[in-house]
Amino acid sequence: MSDPGERVGITILGSGSGGNAIAIHSARETLLVDAGFSARELRRRMEASGVDERSVRAVLVTHEHSDHVKGLRVLAEQLAVPIYANRGTAEVLRSRDTKLGKLVIFAPGSPFSVGEFLVEPFTIPHDAYDPVAFVVKHGPVKLGIATDLGHVNHLVSHQLQACDALVLESNHDLEMLRNSDRSWSLKQRIIGRHGHLSNEAGLDLLRQVLHERTRHIVLAHASRECNDYGLVETGLRRCLAELGREDIDWQVATQDEGARTVWVTHSAFPLSSLLG
Ligand SMILES: [Zn+2]
Ligand SMILES: [Zn+2]
Repeated sequence: MSDPGERVGITILGSGSGGNAIAIHSARETLLVDAGFSARELRRRMEASGVDERSVRAVLVTHEHSDHVKGLRVLAEQLAVPIYANRGTAEVLRSRDTKLGKLVIFAPGSPFSVGEFLVEPFTIPHDAYDPVAFVVKHGPVKLGIATDLGHVNHLVSHQLQACDALVLESNHDLEMLRNSDRSWSLKQRIIGRHGHLSNEAGLDLLRQVLHERTRHIVLAHASRECNDYGLVETGLRRCLAELGREDIDWQVATQDEGARTVWVTHSAFPLSSLLG
């Protein structure tokens, strides 16, 4: 049985094409999702956000892009924790860096436990070797984390149903991307079905998965050149007003600093309403 006073924190240590890392923490244990800053910077951001690095049990990897794995080897070494990745991602990481430490292989679609957490990895469409997103459960609490996806398919919207807290991608404003001085091919890559979700597409996903038990939303992976945090905020605020969900706690994660910790309590949603 879980303690109704128990809570789980989600702290985005930073998010965007320049680096991504998320800490999911209980009173005793922490999981990191990605390590896309230098180890020194990750440790600095953990300390600044009040995440105790001694509580880290593992680093879970979504995919091999450098904005997700930049500090992976050094951080895992320094904290003496295993790296969790699926086979495809692990092979790419190993081929790039033979000194990579202990790797634990998971299979998308097969849940696994790390300490107090139950992790459900699922495949997402993105231009990486074998990219995944995660649902993480702690007692009755369900967290959904999905960035770096080109489009939303049935699997993605199915996996993210009924989450207490959601971290979703809001990568670019289409107009700003079109007007940016990026090459045509890069624009096509970002907009493509294996690229990134635009602000509109991110909100469409939110509309599909928002549940009465959802209490917290973080929009993440906003592009520095092709997006604007104010624009993302305005869109989200408007969307929540339309849905009559102004009660929801929300924020937009930024690149340069860690975000305010989202606290999800075990008692946030009565268990009885999930049964039957
Ligand atoms: Zn990324
Ligand atoms: Zn990526």
